[in-house]
Amino acid sequence: MSTDCIFCKIAQGDIPVELAYKDDQVMAFRDIAPQAPHHLLIVPLEHIPTTLDLEEKHRTLVGHIYLVAAKLARELGIAEDGFRVVNNCNEAAGQTVWHLHFHLLGGRDLSWPPG
Ligand code: 5GP
Ligand code: ZN
Repeated sequence: MSTDCIFCKIAQGDIPVELAYKDDQVMAFRDIAPQAPHHLLIVPLEHIPTTLDLEEKHRTLVGHIYLVAAKLARELGIAEDGFRVVNNCNEAAGQTVWHLHFHLLGGRDLSWPPG
């Protein structure tokens, strides 16, 4: 928990959001500035600033995040057409919130490579 972290505040329930998913490790909710018809953020409840801060103890957490992404993609109906799971690490990659999160994007043709 970091007191000045927006995603920690959401995890604590201090900032209300409509949760698409929550369990004892992660939560998922719609991005406030969606970049696709379906754009969820999958966020660990633990405050981990970036991918570079992952430790051995987080090995199963990261696998769990991908299983949740696949489950949500199926539920949203974007699994068959295709979807993207993105983690931006540090500024040049576009990270703006310093609490690890994975974008789940789908519902349109997604260009590759990304800009
Ligand atoms: P990043 O740029 O760090 O990869 O992704 C951060 C994402 O969090 C951005 O897409 C941004 O729109 C989203 N975001 C930032 N603040 C909030 C918020 O208060 N609520 C929600 N739902 N999304 C947020
Ligand atoms: Zn946090």
